[in-house]
Amino acid sequence: MTEPSSDIRREHVKQLIDHLRVRPGTEVRLPHDFDPRFKPDNLSKEQAPDLLAEGVGLLAEYQDRLYAQDTYSVLVVLQAMDAAGKDGTIKHVMSGVNPQGVNVHSFKSPSTEELDHEFLWRCAQKVPAKGMIGIFNRSYYEEVLVVRVHPKFLSAQHLPPSAVKEPQIWRRRFREINDWERYLTDNGTKIIKIFLNVSRDEQARRFLARIDDPAKNWKFSPADMTERGFWDDYQRVYSEMLSHTSTDHAPWYVVPADRKWFARLATVGIISDVLMDLNPQYPTVAPEVKAKLGEMKKQLEAELPHESGK
Ligand code: ATP
Ligand code: MG
Repeated sequence: MTEPSSDIRREHVKQLIDHLRVRPGTEVRLPHDFDPRFKPDNLSKEQAPDLLAEGVGLLAEYQDRLYAQDTYSVLVVLQAMDAAGKDGTIKHVMSGVNPQGVNVHSFKSPSTEELDHEFLWRCAQKVPAKGMIGIFNRSYYEEVLVVRVHPKFLSAQHLPPSAVKEPQIWRRRFREINDWERYLTDNGTKIIKIFLNVSRDEQARRFLARIDDPAKNWKFSPADMTERGFWDDYQRVYSEMLSHTSTDHAPWYVVPADRKWFARLATVGIISDVLMDLNPQYPTVAPEVKAKLGEMKKQLEAELPHESGK
């Protein structure tokens, strides 16, 4: 059997990605609407390494063009429950990309200084510069997730009373996030939002592996177990986030994360598809510069000793 052409392959990837995208305006209900174990019937784990290598190669090529063009940037927002595989996904997906063209930022509990600013402030400073791919490992979306599940975090934000009226505050934050993402998009930042959707059972298995394997103990903390206790609350706030902040300009993709190999493949597929659509081009040089290059080439060649065959 012959290999499918790259056009057909691209069409398959597009269909898959379309399946993972949250349609703007739809109401999402987790865990019913997205299966964490989903994978296409015709795709197996054995095929994954080759496909991933191909995707990573594509990413590297397009990232180089993005950097050279210096007009757009790409912001990848990664959100997930603990042990869903954010770190591993970043490591694998970006493995072939020039480190000079990528920045990764992990957003943890905010500092005192950060708490003294409005909630988008700390993330705004880390938005990728033109030509760069930026990855947010957690993001401003924590402001409608962990902060919503634990009201004590909201109390710590020193907000004026008028700003804290529930439930308006969440509606307002959704709107502010959508507006901000619109602003970034209009100014050249392409936003890709990925929710790594792990199941509750799979999280338990991964926590157990972190407890059983001494080399993984450091990855597990009692706080992870506490947060797991709020699983249903998180499913609810994630559902609301997906329902209200998936837009045409900055859509959410719900990536099934129970199979790590598939989560990585899907993520590389989504990012490379966006980059291919963006289609950044190497800058071309003006004819007079090109003519100069020709002259310089002759000069350099004349400076070298004559090489007679190899
Ligand atoms: P890993 O556990 O894989 O190393 P992580 O992203 O879970 O990575 P942690 O240091 O375990 O990193 O956790 C960071 C914590 O900071 C998370 O529990 C997250 O919910 C919390 N956090 C992030 N942003 C905010 C915020 N704006 N307000 C309050 N807590 C936040
Ligand atoms: Mg953690």
